[in-house]
Amino acid sequence: MRVVFSDRAFAAVMAETTEKIKTETGGLFLGEVEKDTWYIIETIDPGPKSIFEVAYFEYDQQYTQHLINKIANLYDKKLNLIGLWHRHPGSFDVFSGTDDGTNTKYAGMRKEGAISVLVNIDPNFRLTVYHVAQPCRYKKISYEVGNDLIPDQYLKLKTPERYKSMMTNMLYSNERNVDLEPSVSLVSFMRLLRPKLKERRYDENINKPTGSDEEVRTKIIDSILSDIMFMSDEIGIKMAVVQEKCNVAFVQDTVDGTTKVFFAYLEADDKVVFQYEGENYLYEDGIFESIYHMIHYQVAKGGLNLQTQEDGMVFQKQLEQESRKIINGVIRLIKSDRSDN
Ligand SMILES: [Zn+2]
Repeated sequence: MRVVFSDRAFAAVMAETTEKIKTETGGLFLGEVEKDTWYIIETIDPGPKSIFEVAYFEYDQQYTQHLINKIANLYDKKLNLIGLWHRHPGSFDVFSGTDDGTNTKYAGMRKEGAISVLVNIDPNFRLTVYHVAQPCRYKKISYEVGNDLIPDQYLKLKTPERYKSMMTNMLYSNERNVDLEPSVSLVSFMRLLRPKLKERRYDENINKPTGSDEEVRTKIIDSILSDIMFMSDEIGIKMAVVQEKCNVAFVQDTVDGTTKVFFAYLEADDKVVFQYEGENYLYEDGIFESIYHMIHYQVAKGGLNLQTQEDGMVFQKQLEQESRKIINGVIRLIKSDRSDN
């Protein structure tokens, strides 16, 4: 197992260490794991409200969460949070008890675990790179630096064309006469995913969050943005992303009726939930895309039960046929209760 830093990610670790030379500091890693290699593409700085002390340091979590979403979405293939780093005083290059807790949390976020890196200056800058397996087993691993060691697909940013098509999708409103566009049906997309959603069922009550409606909607949009892009760009679903009060909804009006998927924010768990056909499900960033790929993979391998197999085939057909059938569908896009007046 090894770690490969992009030139920029490595420079960012060095820059942050230099800026906070007298105290501890740290940051978060965005990237991708492929087989035994961890590609660190971006480093997120800890933020202005972090606590920096000689032997202690804490992230500004609101800031890092915000920046993670912003930076991860710039890339063609959305980046994931795969690890973290922090500076230690002197030559202390093993983890403290507090670090064990933090590392356990990060390793628990994905089945491959996480990368946790320590920086020492004793007297020269050096890195000790650890892989953290769940729950908290450490293994020292080697690292290299260089964009030329990273597959192009992980370094590629979204193209201007992709942004233009996203802008078009988000801006067209009722007034603009765009109702002659063909679209894939939202209802067939959701039906395809439904068998895989069962384990995500959420039956608790959803309380109204305490934040302002706009804050809550921003949290929801940040979380669902990559699925919106996947559904509109890659699947070709033309739908409205309607923002109202503290909710966001996907809405598609077609000749056959209206399909809606509602999203709400669960403040206590800092999670997004969605409602489809009266059931609530726990959402996770990019989950629609992952389930879609999982189903396609299984359909291709013939490994699904009959019901889902049929759904898969029906969906494939609809992709071809319904693109004509929904010709008279109405497209309404990002319409918030603020921009209405
Ligand atoms: Zn530490």
